[in-house]
Amino acid sequence: MARIGVLALQGDVSEHVLALERAGQGKVQAVEVRKPGQIEECQALVLPGGESTTICRQLESSGLTEELKAAARRGKPILATCAGLVLISQEIEGDSLVKPLGLMDIKISRNAFGSQRESFEADIQIKGLDRPYRAVFIRAPAIAAAGREVEVLARVGEAVVAARQKNLLALAFHPELTEDPRIHHIFLKMLEA
Ligand code: GLN
Repeated sequence: MARIGVLALQGDVSEHVLALERAGQGKVQAVEVRKPGQIEECQALVLPGGESTTICRQLESSGLTEELKAAARRGKPILATCAGLVLISQEIEGDSLVKPLGLMDIKISRNAFGSQRESFEADIQIKGLDRPYRAVFIRAPAIAAAGREVEVLARVGEAVVAARQKNLLALAFHPELTEDPRIHHIFLKMLEA
């Protein structure tokens, strides 16, 4: 049984818990992470979407920041979605409210799809999947620039919306909001490696 933590400070936590357990078909136990010491007990971690300014603030007051950074550097698989993607970045374009954790060598453009496209769905081609994936975007960020270690996995037009750097899988969309388990399967495979 793999124990996977979902950072539960703010955002769509319960959806991730359900999606992980559904994709794991009895082999995954998903737990909500709120306190220091809990990340250590998990083999992998999900950083959900929500509001990155809020999660950033809560992360500091929860005392989880250092533990999270250390886990990422030691190679623990991390799935970061939407606001989670903003958090793990190196740099955020023109933004001072969110202090990124600097785990992944990417620069983020927050709310990259603008107010006219606050929320939308798109069939995207993801590297490693044989047919399109229906992705849900909600006030989504995009990866504006990526370093050499980063593998781009998907785009919407020119915008990079999925990427991987070693143990870090980062998505601008919400895989927990659709029934398609293929993204979670990719993530669970990263635990076996
Ligand atoms: N726009 C939000 C932010 O930057 C992210 C939105 C989301 O997670 N759905 O925090």
